Amino acid sequence: MDKVLRDRIRYEQCLKRYTTFKVGGYASLFAEPTNREELQEVLDYGKSQGLGIFVLGKGSNILVRDSIVEGLVVHIPTGAFNRLERKGEQVWAEAGVSLPRLIHRTSEWGLKGLEALVGIPGSVGGAVAMNAGGKHGTIGRWIEEVSTIGYDGALHHYKRGEVDFQYRSAGLGEQIVLEAGLKLEKGSVEEIRQRMREIYEEKKRTQPLCSKSAGCVFKNPPGQSAGALIDQSGLKGFKVGGAMVSRKHANFIINWGSATAGQILELIYRVREEVKRQFGVWLELEIKVW
Ligand SMILES: Cc1cc2nc3c(=O)[nH]c(=O)nc-3n(C[C@H](O)[C@H](O)[C@H](O)COP(=O)(O)OP(=O)(O)OC[C@H]3O[C@@H](n4cnc5c(N)ncnc54)[C@H](O)[C@@H]3O)c2cc1C
Repeated sequence: MDKVLRDRIRYEQCLKRYTTFKVGGYASLFAEPTNREELQEVLDYGKSQGLGIFVLGKGSNILVRDSIVEGLVVHIPTGAFNRLERKGEQVWAEAGVSLPRLIHRTSEWGLKGLEALVGIPGSVGGAVAMNAGGKHGTIGRWIEEVSTIGYDGALHHYKRGEVDFQYRSAGLGEQIVLEAGLKLEKGSVEEIRQRMREIYEEKKRTQPLCSKSAGCVFKNPPGQSAGALIDQSGLKGFKVGGAMVSRKHANFIINWGSATAGQILELIYRVREEVKRQFGVWLELEIKVW
């Protein structure tokens, strides 16, 4: 390993502060590439050592266990991969651009479409990989092209239609999103802002946006709402240690004190068992557990 690369790789890096749950253990290896060349080097190193790769954006949809993540965690650091450009109704955003920044800028440009994503705290890379969104729409709807780098170092470019956007997935597998191209629609700045305010107010009323969480824990089963099933199971406010089913939105688990990842997982299992017992529905995880 050359010295420059050696300086970039950290060992036993605590991941707690990199996730919105604020829990979790260590990454055995951790790197923060700040540009494509560095990312390529880091991936080459991972490949040469046969390391598992874990991609970390803003950590707002990940639960890191209390133990060690065995492999190389590649974190897109704040401020890197941060280019955001516009030409007419087309917008290009690199993976590290925060979703709130993208939404804010496009609204200033009088471009509508992304209002539905207001209140989602992730990065563009994470949002594309997860096809982030909700009842008002998803990011995949607006994507025209996506550039990625495979864990094997190969670059890819996909046009709309070549990315399989599904419910909370873009089906990209072992690839890191580098950049997304979006095509939005012209609109009035005032109307876009108004729509954003309405959606944000609705979310603030119904979701614990200021608590430590990772958003919705479970996917909605077809035709049903996971939150409603958990609520009807009488689990709002149910706790395991410092982990609690939110009283505002039953599909959010919040770290209300100093929860461990183990307590959050235990609560997840209990909620699943109870919903299965009462309704015969097995809830699938939306969040990623490392
Ligand atoms: C308060 C709150 C509200 C939320 N509301 C919503 C909501 O309404 N709708 C919704 O969909 N989500 C919601 N989320 C979850 C989360 O914010 C989104 O899924 C977000 O898009 C994840 O982005 P991230 O950068 O934090 O990804 P991370 O949490 O870091 O990663 C999530 C997944 O994406 C992968 N990933 C991250 N970056 C990249 C990349 N560059 N290339 C390839 N893969 C990558 C990771 O490996 C992981 O599998 C919410 C979370 C919180 C805390």
